[in-house]
Amino acid sequence: MMDILQSCRLCPRQCGVDRSSGKQGYCGADDRLLVARAALHFWEEPCISGTKGSGTVFFSGCPLGCRFCQNYEISARGVGKAISIQRLADIFLELQDRGANNINLVSPTQYVPHIIKALELVKARLSIPVVYNTGGYERVETLKQLEGYVDIWLSDAKYADPVRSKNYSAAQDYPQTAFAAIAEMLRQCGTPTFDENGMLRRGVIVRHLVLPGGMKDSFAVLDRLAEQKKNHDFLLSLMAQYTPYRKDEQYTELNRRISSYEYRRVCEYAQQLGFEGFQQERSSAKEEYTPDFDLTGV
Ligand code: SF4
Repeated sequence: MMDILQSCRLCPRQCGVDRSSGKQGYCGADDRLLVARAALHFWEEPCISGTKGSGTVFFSGCPLGCRFCQNYEISARGVGKAISIQRLADIFLELQDRGANNINLVSPTQYVPHIIKALELVKARLSIPVVYNTGGYERVETLKQLEGYVDIWLSDAKYADPVRSKNYSAAQDYPQTAFAAIAEMLRQCGTPTFDENGMLRRGVIVRHLVLPGGMKDSFAVLDRLAEQKKNHDFLLSLMAQYTPYRKDEQYTELNRRISSYEYRRVCEYAQQLGFEGFQQERSSAKEEYTPDFDLTGV
């Protein structure tokens, strides 16, 4: 299973780098398993965080290159501690022991082989769902390897317009790739199911972050998701938390938060299409969403 690292094609970049020799791929990952934080997290959707928190494991590196990334320290700067697969498995159990509602794998794509091995080590002792929390830039082939290991897919659908995905996330193929990935997630996990406390046990949540000046593309994303919803049900989470952490000199439209009008129009459009789901207060753009990547729990 780890052979794939000799010519890595785990994500749609398919950069083919020999990570096993210590070289870094586009995503920043090499032969090490880097984790920046493992802790209870309370700012996911209510059916993920609940009152006890989600057992988040933040992995370092990312196959996307979003200019507005809120986890920049780990996605692009490589903050993280190298750990063994056994240690990752132990972290899963520690989070479960601390009462986590689930194990929430954040930016996991580049470590799928490591994660599968770690889950194999603990599957008999892990009774909480495993959440795969991704920007949506995924290869269907890689997702298929995770069938039976992941209970809840938590995926972004960022763009429908390839020009915007190229400009903002360095991935022109993002729209076709992400919507195909979501179709595979829906095939694997289908209609959402909840436990007696309203916590999600199985299913798919699709997140869409509303961007400043991006209303038209948000509508197009929702149109495509509405098509997908005809085949399988899922939960939609419309996010208002966009915060310009760094000044963007090239795409200056990204240098502001979204307006109440923009967010309301996108929510109204989602409702017209028949979506029910989660909406955020626009005032929710707080720094707590971005925890300290200080190696807590690693
Ligand atoms: S996961 Fe990283 S190393 Fe592998 S193909 Fe993608 S960018 Fe390249």
